Amino acid sequence: MQDDVGRSNCQTLFGMQGIPSDGQIRNLLDRLVPDSFQLLFLHLLDTLRSKGDFSPFVRLRDRILVAHDGIEFHSSRTIHCQQCSSRRTGKDKRPSFFHTMVAAVVVAPGHNRVVPLMPEFVCTQDDPGDQHSVRRRKQGCEINAAKRWLTKWGARMARYRPVYLGDALYATHPFCQQVLHAGADFLFVVKPKSPRYSSFYTSAISRAPIGSGCRTRRHVATKSTAIAG
Ligand SMILES: [Zn+2]
Repeated sequence: MQDDVGRSNCQTLFGMQGIPSDGQIRNLLDRLVPDSFQLLFLHLLDTLRSKGDFSPFVRLRDRILVAHDGIEFHSSRTIHCQQCSSRRTGKDKRPSFFHTMVAAVVVAPGHNRVVPLMPEFVCTQDDPGDQHSVRRRKQGCEINAAKRWLTKWGARMARYRPVYLGDALYATHPFCQQVLHAGADFLFVVKPKSPRYSSFYTSAISRAPIGSGCRTRRHVATKSTAIAG
């Protein structure tokens, strides 16, 4: 924006005159513990609601939809740290290093904006080792990070009456139970071709103690007292 129109949001919104380069910003931020920023996301959400700008995100009467998904935000064959996960890729099977996290965002159908929430970084100690395929390790790490996210933030998010959204990876009985214990509901999509399809129906849907609030469709399984009501 600075190059195109001669001014940037840093100047017009925040009054900044000397704008640091990407490298300088990284030099400053890399020294800080990521957890230092976690509460800022919650503060953003509270501010949006208190200022009355939150109505586009309210769905199902007075609820919000929070989508979880895993993303990889760093990958390199040379640059790595002690927190990196690793895998061997390519014809030469050389190791590459990467970082992933579970992103959480407030979404709303028909609305082209999202509100970012606290990310949860995948830890190397989640990696169960070489006994599983790369895909299974990745999925195991992601669901463990999502469980930590709920442990940290589930109670504080309960006042928003969230419905948690996710793909088949999240459609496991333990995770569904954790969502319910956090005072929330879930809507996880499991495609018929997914290996998890039949087990999700026979396990999570039938065993979760929701009573009459259960509804299933061919491609989507939900369990929610509010949604079904
Ligand atoms: Zn690293």
